[in-house]
Amino acid sequence: MQTDYLVIGAGVVGLSIARRLGMAGAEVVLIDSNPSFGMETSSRNSEVIHAGLYYPEASYKARFCVKGARQLYDYCAARGIKTWRCGKLIVAHNDAETATLNTLMQQGRANGVDDLSLLDAAAVKKLEPELHAQAAIHSPASGVMDSHAFMAALEADAENHNALTAYQSRFVRAEKKPHGFDAWLNSQGEDMVLKVRGIINAAGHGAHNVSHAIDAVNAATIPPHYHAKGQYFSCARKVPFQHLIYPIPSDGGLGIHLTRGHSGDVRFGPDIKWVATPSYDTNPDDAEKFYQSIAKYWHDIKPTDLVPAWAGLRPKIYPDGSVFQDFTIHDARQHGCEGLIALYGIDSPGLTSSLAIADEVFMRIGKK
Ligand SMILES: Cc1cc2nc3c(=O)[nH]c(=O)nc-3n(C[C@H](O)[C@H](O)[C@H](O)COP(=O)(O)OP(=O)(O)OC[C@H]3O[C@@H](n4cnc5c(N)ncnc54)[C@H](O)[C@@H]3O)c2cc1C
Repeated sequence: MQTDYLVIGAGVVGLSIARRLGMAGAEVVLIDSNPSFGMETSSRNSEVIHAGLYYPEASYKARFCVKGARQLYDYCAARGIKTWRCGKLIVAHNDAETATLNTLMQQGRANGVDDLSLLDAAAVKKLEPELHAQAAIHSPASGVMDSHAFMAALEADAENHNALTAYQSRFVRAEKKPHGFDAWLNSQGEDMVLKVRGIINAAGHGAHNVSHAIDAVNAATIPPHYHAKGQYFSCARKVPFQHLIYPIPSDGGLGIHLTRGHSGDVRFGPDIKWVATPSYDTNPDDAEKFYQSIAKYWHDIKPTDLVPAWAGLRPKIYPDGSVFQDFTIHDARQHGCEGLIALYGIDSPGLTSSLAIADEVFMRIGKK
């Protein structure tokens, strides 16, 4: 069997890429080892459409988040997918945090987020009477979305444009050949070889293993892989806020925030824990830590209001949160293997940025 491109990983990023390539007329095979799309990081996140203010100017995260958020709102509107532009407040409780808000404001503006405003305590109270803060950034364009419906629409677009999706299909290894690659797959228990012109490695937590299994990749260029777990707790009673409420970001995460599903259900999280053994377990004992963090901005919350919900795992290429981690996208200039694009460390805001990341991959392929 042969095709133009093999896309490995049907998370939101692989789906976006398969759609982009398929709509440009390429033949695509999109595989995932799970029985359906988006069963890993893409279904274990906050579903927030970020505006793009957290990331250094000109980084991929800044560029793709700002562009991707616009693309996402437009795409979801065109396809009848639920979004809720409820707005976000990032809150500060002391002078040092207020100074950080100022830095974030400048960064956001430099990134092209031009609708931000800095609110004092009285203005915060006007917007959210039960919210306690010395100051806050208001980001009106931030919102939430139905990420499952989004991924289903991407899959449908891809399949309607020359893409074949194969689930329970695992990438095993690939060898460089004059036509591109021979790729060994295990599809529903059967071994097979696919002849392809190019490979897109969008395998999330498996991306480093996939690249190590391609013979022509310079292994020294493959980043290490770490897991930063993020737990969520749901709230057993009605929450008096309309906006998403975020603390100041810290340690490689955005802080324990209040977010909501597109249907209004509220969750708190994610926290950040650097784990050696990945698992999606949640620890009920962490309710106290969540309570302490949330009580700073919502004084009425009780520890017993918090119910352990679920967890996600951020793919990281650094072992702790001390270094800014950008999206890492390698082509032959980095790894020396013509025809391969490899994506590593696609953590937040990867959902928001997915359509823009797909444009970047398409642009890099087009240059070949
Ligand atoms: C706790 C948390 C909160 C987040 N919140 C937000 C948010 O609010 N907004 C936002 O924009 N972003 C958020 N993100 C980031 C976002 O969820 C990710 O950036 C995005 O889902 C990454 O998608 P992906 O397709 O790269 O990876 P994944 O969804 O992990 O997909 C990779 C796929 O590759 C498959 N795979 C791996 N190895 C193989 C193999 N050998 N063969 C075949 N298939 C393979 C896996 O089965 C998997 O389905 C959050 C992330 C986390 C962890």
